[in-house]
Amino acid sequence: MTTDGRPTNDDLRAWDDDHVWHPFAPMSAFREERVPVVVDAEGFELVDTDGRRYVDGVSSLWCNVHGHRVSEIDAAVRHQLDRVAHSTLLGLASGPSADFAKRLVDVLPAGLTRVFYSDAGATAVEAALKMVVQYHCQKPNPDPPGQRRLFVSLDEAYHGDTIGSVSVGRTEGFHRVFDGLLFDTLKVPAPVALRTPDGLDRRAYLDWCADEMERVVRENGERLAGFVIEPLVQGAAGILVQPEGYLKRVREVTAELAIPLVADEVAVGFGKTGTMFACEQEDVRPDVLCLGKGISGGYLPLAATVTTDEIFNAFLGDPSRGRTFFHGHTYTGNALACAAGIASLDLFERDAVLDNVVEIAGVMAARLDVLVDHPHVAEVRQRGVMVGVELVRDRNGLVPFERSHRLGHQVVLEARRRGVIVRPLGDVVVLMPAVGMPADVVERLCEATVESIDVVTRRAAASS
Ligand SMILES: *Cc1c(COP(=O)(O)O)cnc(C)c1O
Repeated sequence: MTTDGRPTNDDLRAWDDDHVWHPFAPMSAFREERVPVVVDAEGFELVDTDGRRYVDGVSSLWCNVHGHRVSEIDAAVRHQLDRVAHSTLLGLASGPSADFAKRLVDVLPAGLTRVFYSDAGATAVEAALKMVVQYHCQKPNPDPPGQRRLFVSLDEAYHGDTIGSVSVGRTEGFHRVFDGLLFDTLKVPAPVALRTPDGLDRRAYLDWCADEMERVVRENGERLAGFVIEPLVQGAAGILVQPEGYLKRVREVTAELAIPLVADEVAVGFGKTGTMFACEQEDVRPDVLCLGKGISGGYLPLAATVTTDEIFNAFLGDPSRGRTFFHGHTYTGNALACAAGIASLDLFERDAVLDNVVEIAGVMAARLDVLVDHPHVAEVRQRGVMVGVELVRDRNGLVPFERSHRLGHQVVLEARRRGVIVRPLGDVVVLMPAVGMPADVVERLCEATVESIDVVTRRAAASS
């Protein structure tokens, strides 16, 4: 402790080691690494206890929008703090949550009119799943309970870490211990064609994926509660970019069979793919749209599950009929978070952020172009500001590096030395700058990443 009773930098490091269990972290290795302890930020940089500055290359895990310490958002939160920080939506309404709901509906695809708030992407998805299951039991010409309980989702999907959202997420690997706790879902192939089965070229394989999706939906139509998808880009799977027309085809077949489409825009929403929402690019209106991450500008925990009047109306009626949606979280519609969300939407307009996305996406494509033919890069995938660079030992056979190399992780460490924070998904190096990041900072981010990939892959290839 310092003489005035505040923790020193060494205290903070020690207390993190002793008490903080980090998400998705192999904690024994993590402690050895002495990760930066962030205490400040300015613009698009984070500052650690040693005063070192780092470009926030993954927008603080895909949620930061306009940078850090944005004066307009800071002021909006402070102003709200002078009125009320939080009051419940259970039995009461709140000004900021009503204001923000209206603002969201105004920018969302037409017809999405009912906003159910929660506080994380996973809870937004969880609420969506329960909402559509209950909807089928209460809609006009209802199905008996239990009739429609199967969800369709994509292989390698990621929808959050609660049991329900994991159930519609990927199946193998770190979820095996939860077998039996997860509910069954139907999986359809992720429409990506880096590795195609023998005899099929990319186009043919992608067509097969879409046909297979349609077959699974048609064969199970009567048993399906809904279809859950990350529109345009499967983020956590490694920035898997869907071919044009896939989302539209999912919408067409689900609409024809009256199967609710749940679009999880937690990652892709708020500009990341170049439009405010990814669904817009295929002119798709889902029945339920999940928002999180960037919804508060990356300031405070907030999420929303937005749906149509049609679904909402199935929950109306005399209270004694029990048609209520019995679901809610304590911090639902938090006033400070909604105030930040409103300020963020204002900045989208004032700063023409969607134009900036187009510009910096172009900068990224140009700067990362040198990786396209790199001997250890299988593929550079990009949509808007979402970029994944997949590293391999041998580009021709698409042979991965041995897992013990933890290659993606090595790139992260190398980039950190160069003053840049990135975060891998296995051997996929992910870049996800804030949509408001200026072009010159994006250049620095790309340059450091290219250098780091070069150094690390060369070292790994030489070592065995
Ligand atoms: C991050 C993410 C989630 C989960 O959001 P949390 O706020 O971490 O619970 C859900 N869906 C997608 C597509 C995501 O990228």
